[in-house]
Amino acid sequence: MTDLPSLRDSLDAHGLLAKKSFGQHFLLDLNVTRKIVRLAGPFEGRAVIEVGPGPGGLTRALLESDAGSIVLVEKDPRFLPLLSELDTPEFGGSGRLKIVEGDALKVREAELVDGPTHLVSNLPYNVGTPLLIKWLTGPWTPYALTLMFQKEVAERIVAAPGEDAYGRLAVISQAVAEARLVMHLPAAAFTPPPKVASAVVHLVPRPDRPDAETLKRLERVTAAAFGQRRKMLRSSLKTLGGAALCEAAGISPEDRAEVIDLAGFLRMAAALGRSAT
Ligand code: SAM
Repeated sequence: MTDLPSLRDSLDAHGLLAKKSFGQHFLLDLNVTRKIVRLAGPFEGRAVIEVGPGPGGLTRALLESDAGSIVLVEKDPRFLPLLSELDTPEFGGSGRLKIVEGDALKVREAELVDGPTHLVSNLPYNVGTPLLIKWLTGPWTPYALTLMFQKEVAERIVAAPGEDAYGRLAVISQAVAEARLVMHLPAAAFTPPPKVASAVVHLVPRPDRPDAETLKRLERVTAAAFGQRRKMLRSSLKTLGGAALCEAAGISPEDRAEVIDLAGFLRMAAALGRSAT
């Protein structure tokens, strides 16, 4: 790969500068992007969707991997010519790459790929959380997700009860998937550097994840409980049944949301379902 144009040269050749409005902070060091791809794989011939390829640093590492096909979803059309240059034998492309211009919040993944599919992305910070919620709770479920977030968001995804970062995002993410923080990256690893540090989270959806109805109830319970996290549950959950709901789930109404584990929240979601019927 040493004879290939560097990412920086490709950006210069196409006259591309990062746009703040698209959350563009690029990874131009292939050693870093190869490491992320190693943490995401092995793919064993399965498809990969990469959201926001930008100049293609992660894409280049994906093309070196055992991914079967690679679908790129990029909102900024300026990058499309540069990305199509990667679909050539020298980069390991040759028909393995499909490039889609679009908004990842709106695309229907099931129309882009067949079969088990990994998601790998250095996400734009401004849409990281809504995209994660879409992939975890929407109709299409990925095989696994390896995603770069702002460090604070990554910590909120993997947080355990009792930790400051524990809240709705931890409960919903961990109800659906096993989530691990697998890599830290300083702001200086990106061009241009963002104001905050970043971290990569690897999530594997659980075979026994809650169905859509249970997830909706879990969202209602966690929204109410963490909306007033310093209050006792009997008070924060008042509109959903208060102390009676807690007792039906075997939880003390005097506890606060931050000490309730995932199993406890799932019992409250189930109790809410029973009380609604
Ligand atoms: N993957 C590249 C890298 O690591 O160098 C770029 C990462 S940059 C943090 C985020 C990328 O997502 C940018 O290319 C940006 O244009 C793109 N993007 C922003 N919002 C998007 C959206 N809603 N849907 C698809 N791509 C988006």
